[in-house]
Amino acid sequence: MVRESRKMTMREVQKELEGMKNDIQQSMQFLNVLFAEMDKCNMVLIRLLEKGGLLHQKTCAHCGFNVNTPMFDDIPIPEECPACQKSLDETKQTTLPEEKEEE
Ligand SMILES: [Zn+2]
Repeated sequence: MVRESRKMTMREVQKELEGMKNDIQQSMQFLNVLFAEMDKCNMVLIRLLEKGGLLHQKTCAHCGFNVNTPMFDDIPIPEECPACQKSLDETKQTTLPEEKEEE
């Protein structure tokens, strides 16, 4: 490395750090915008699925993660929490209770 041939001055180090900080801040800003957009899309999708009765919702009893799964033939309902990898069996379903015939 070229930098090893000579020690950087404090001013240079500071300048370098400042540049890195700006880069990181810019990346963070970009990521924040991206995440906000993704969140929005996700919310719209979930609402639509929910409205259409096509959303399977479960809350993980271990970590509280909300697992939303679209109910389509080719999408399996997960048995494990994607966040903590523990079984979702003991969690209670937050969708409408399964149809029971009550008389
Ligand atoms: Zn979990």
